[in-house]
Amino acid sequence: MSQLPSHVVIGHPIAHSKSPIIHAAFAAQFSAEPALASFEYDRLLAPLDGFATSLQQFAAQGGQGANVTVPFKEEAFALASELTPRAKAAGAVNTLQYLGGNRWLGDNTDGAGLVADILRHISIRGRRILLLGAGGAARGVILPLLEQQPHSLTIANRTLAKAEALQAHFQPTSAIAIAVSTFTELVGEFDLIINATSASLGGERLPIAPTVFAPNALAYDMMYGKEETPFLAQAREAGVAQRVDGLGMLVGQAAEAFALWTGLRPDVAPVLAQLRKMA
Ligand code: NDP
Repeated sequence: MSQLPSHVVIGHPIAHSKSPIIHAAFAAQFSAEPALASFEYDRLLAPLDGFATSLQQFAAQGGQGANVTVPFKEEAFALASELTPRAKAAGAVNTLQYLGGNRWLGDNTDGAGLVADILRHISIRGRRILLLGAGGAARGVILPLLEQQPHSLTIANRTLAKAEALQAHFQPTSAIAIAVSTFTELVGEFDLIINATSASLGGERLPIAPTVFAPNALAYDMMYGKEETPFLAQAREAGVAQRVDGLGMLVGQAAEAFALWTGLRPDVAPVLAQLRKMA
């Protein structure tokens, strides 16, 4: 393996990742900071059956930190010798910090990235949240969302049993009422509706009624892209004025990882604006 930078994003595939652009922009905000003199960040493609080996080689070459993306987040969780509380709650790790001796600290910054992005638009306290989806991304954001003291959280999923499993996991330690539903049986209206399904990836809409969007609701799609996502189109047609895609979550999770590694908190807004211009 050729010489590696101090920090990488590991995944398979990885060529599409915007993380190197984001972290280079963060580092540029602190160009006078001596601690960042050796900060370099690049993509690392790991073989599908070679995540642990790639990480070991990276550490052997002086690697200090890594972001982890599809499909290795659960493997990173299993491999980490220490976990932050939010990584434990998420059951997945998207950020690793090298502790030495082939030991890694595992963190999960996806939920914090999402919450920070939503807070740029509305407060979450006292709101009725509808979380659509019960996969890895949904699980990762539940604890950070509950910490914002919403009025309630309803998890709706195509496969109800998966939503019920998340309810069983999080309800015992939370005073916030957590309800579950299928998409078609949803009752009532919600102030914050978050799409954490991968339906948008396949261009599909969700079978939810337009009445789930309360007046002044915010619709958030974790997916992002050049075009309006199918879920945000649904929200627009339901009359929702505040519609946000997941690009800010991506930059937000990166900012949390950068802060963990360097102790420096970057300014997200200009980097998000830069990415929007490039999109
Ligand atoms: P998972 O595969 O773990 O979960 C997929 C979820 O989507 C499940 O709830 C699944 O339902 C549901 N789903 C899949 N297809 C459909 C469909 N056609 N109709 C209805 N529901 C469907 O994926 P992840 O949780 O890891 O990722 C979900 C999304 O979040 C992706 O689009 C991903 O790109 C995005 N994401 C964005 C991030 C960001 O930084 N912006 C960070 C992380 C994720 P079921 O249980 O019934 O199969």
